[in-house]
Amino acid sequence: MKIEANHLSKVYGSGENKVVALDSVNLSISSGDFISLMGPSGSGKSTLLHLLSGLDQPSSGSVLYDNQNIYHTSDKELSSFRRRKIGFVFQQFNLLPVLTARENILMPLLLDKRQPNESYMREITDLLGISNRMNHLPHELSGGQQQRIAIARSLITQPDVIFADEPTGNLDSKSGNEVMSLLHNIWRNMRKTVVIITHDIEIGQLAERRFSITDGVLSEVTQQ
Ligand code: ADP
Repeated sequence: MKIEANHLSKVYGSGENKVVALDSVNLSISSGDFISLMGPSGSGKSTLLHLLSGLDQPSSGSVLYDNQNIYHTSDKELSSFRRRKIGFVFQQFNLLPVLTARENILMPLLLDKRQPNESYMREITDLLGISNRMNHLPHELSGGQQQRIAIARSLITQPDVIFADEPTGNLDSKSGNEVMSLLHNIWRNMRKTVVIITHDIEIGQLAERRFSITDGVLSEVTQQ
């Protein structure tokens, strides 16, 4: 799946309160790319990730998935597209506290009225080292384990692309490194496109293509 952003802009507010969060961003992501997006707080990273993943509306410009503008579809089609094609991993994990690990992982399938594929479930929970934690509630798990559950949840629908917003931001450095190495394995072994926002230079450098963003302006900094 090819993802393209063309002259993508997002402006919040107006007059004195106007903030140009994204300023005419052009970006082309090929299937299987591993991308990091780095920049200081407030530079537009989350805004870009939200627009690339169909979570928000751009002020101008387009986002194309295989040449189809995702913002030219109905809200219903866009949310169904998101559920099937895109996996999300968040800094705060966003697990539902009253559901077990297994129920959290299966939630995106339930929302889509799809049955779990048990062998695929086993494959991803084994890969993430959480198969023996399936009946635990989130508060019974460490931060690193919770994030691994969240990664399994992002994979359960077999999406083409994973967007991760500061996935190690809430973890100590050891658990953060483990989570990053798992995301790296997923990219390499499962051939997913992975886009990661991070503050951490070491993590950013693990990516194959590196971008920096300042005041809403994106530039690629990958050393060729
Ligand atoms: P980052 O993820 O790099 O911290 P964001 O994309 O969250 O940056 O924000 C970029 C800019 O847009 C910031 O100046 C922020 O204050 C502003 N911004 C983000 N969301 C909103 C919003 N809903 N309303 C007004 N301004 C916003």
